[in-house]
Amino acid sequence: MDGCIFCRIAAGQVPANIIYRDDEVIAVEDLNPQAPSHALVLPLAHHATIVALTRAKPTLAARLMTVASQLGAERGGERGFRLVVNTGEYGGQTVDHVHVHVLAGRRMSWPPG
Ligand code: 5GP
Ligand code: ZN
Repeated sequence: MDGCIFCRIAAGQVPANIIYRDDEVIAVEDLNPQAPSHALVLPLAHHATIVALTRAKPTLAARLMTVASQLGAERGGERGFRLVVNTGEYGGQTVDHVHVHVLAGRRMSWPPG
C-alpha cells in the first residue's frame, strides 16, 4: 500500500534491522525501543489491523503469532516476554499495518496505561 511505512520496509524500500524473514512474515527491530529487546513482527502483505487480518487470512495471523512467540521465547528466555497488538485509536495503534510487538529484557507493568 502506497505510503505505508511497514509496506515500504517489507519491500526493502526503507532500511530496517531485519531479524527474521520468510515468504509471508518479517520481524524487525523497533526504531524506538520500549524495552531492552523490542521487535515487531508483521505480514509482508498490507492488512490494517489484527481484526482485518484475522477476517481476511486467519492462517497468516497464526503465522504472525507463531513467529512472535518463538522470537519472544528466544529473547525473553525463562524470564518471559510480552506480545502486544495495539489496535485502533484507543488501542494506541500508530502504524496502520498490523504488527505484533515482542518486548523482553525487563519486568513489565500491568495494567497498561
Ligand atoms: P503501534 O503504536 O502502531 O503499536 O507501533 C508502531 C511501532 O512502530 C512503534 O513502536 C514505532 O517505534 C515503530 N516504528 C515506527 N516507524 C518505524 C520505522 O520506520 N521503522 C521501525 N523499525 N519501526 C518503526
Ligand atoms: Zn502496509
